[in-house]
Amino acid sequence: MAFGVYIHIPYCLQICPYCDFTKYEHGKIMPPSDYVKLLTEEIRSRAGDVPEREISTIYFGGGTPSLFEPRLILTVLEELAKAGFRWSTAEDNDDGKRLEMTLEIDPATCDQARLEGYLALGANRFSVGAQTFNERLLKVAGRKHSSHDTVELLQLLKRNKVNYSFDLLFGLPTQTLEELRADVATALAFDPSHLSAYCLTVPEAHPMSKGRAPDEEQVEMFNVIESELAKAGVLRYEISNFAKPGFESKHNLLYWTDQPYWGLGTSAHSYFPPRFSKSVDAVGDSGMRFWNAPALSAYEKEVRRSRSHEWSFVRDIPDAHREILERHQALTDFCHTSLRLKRGLDENALRLRFGNAAASLVTSILGDLAKGTWIQPTANGWAMTAEGRVMANAVFEKLTFLADDLKGLPGPN
Ligand code: SF4
Repeated sequence: MAFGVYIHIPYCLQICPYCDFTKYEHGKIMPPSDYVKLLTEEIRSRAGDVPEREISTIYFGGGTPSLFEPRLILTVLEELAKAGFRWSTAEDNDDGKRLEMTLEIDPATCDQARLEGYLALGANRFSVGAQTFNERLLKVAGRKHSSHDTVELLQLLKRNKVNYSFDLLFGLPTQTLEELRADVATALAFDPSHLSAYCLTVPEAHPMSKGRAPDEEQVEMFNVIESELAKAGVLRYEISNFAKPGFESKHNLLYWTDQPYWGLGTSAHSYFPPRFSKSVDAVGDSGMRFWNAPALSAYEKEVRRSRSHEWSFVRDIPDAHREILERHQALTDFCHTSLRLKRGLDENALRLRFGNAAASLVTSILGDLAKGTWIQPTANGWAMTAEGRVMANAVFEKLTFLADDLKGLPGPN
């Protein structure tokens, strides 16, 4: 089983008005070195509960991790090593030899020296928060960087022959289909091996909800992205993610394939499936989710408290920050995350994990949906159609289970 570690770095150059990650403006909170101390304390006090020591993927996300100098990132990695973790050397990992270590970088925060520093400590994948190459729309999105900054960063990554991905944001207020086409063309000029395309999501009352293209045009924008990328061999493998074959994000795949991950830092989420725990008592029959305090001050208190004794996920995480999953919740998660992937839900894996009775319940719903236009059968199970992807929330609603739905149904043998 693969195992990933996510490290949240909540520092940003600016606070973008549409962002709902935990983040703070750089310079207005504790210095980065103090935050790294908290991370190392968290590793020291909590590592004892993690049953696996071989890490397949490490992901520094945020926020803007590239605001942290390489020596600070190194301190975190060294602490993981001191706690007995080692990097995977599995043959099927990354380019066949090493673990995948991703670092998110934003334009205007990384130069040649800094990139070399990250490469030296083992980072082998970089995710660039480009969002759009259109100067006007960058301002609409509240970004401080310019399109020129993004281009310079992508040129730097290309010159250094490193593996990189970038994020595109679409459906921005006043953005036209032609502007989106121009963004995709510029993106393709950099020959990305991976690209994530997100439609802006803001609540109705949000100032950025005004002036956006109508829903049908947003769907068309997504279709343009998918078809233009496909022509360049960058294929969709998840609702919002595209890659050349072999360049899919191994870390993000953990989230969609029921694999364990451990989140460090403020607001970071973790998931331990049942087969990953030291004992079923610890995480229940269906696995456990837990998460760190979302506010930096509360996270700091949590970590300081844990100094006094060895922290335990099971004993010490406040009830409000952990959830021992029940079978219906685990089944719901399994259906939603599998269907996010292009390859879809594997019926055999479903039966093995939840038993024949629960699997039959799911397949009868999928069979009904397949009579419409949202779901289609595959060789191993079921996947969403293009129309289903647009209506993903409605599909997920049909596959959201309550405890009563599974009452009396036997589990796996
Ligand atoms: S830079 Fe990224 S993480 Fe920071 S506020 Fe903007 S969108 Fe959010």
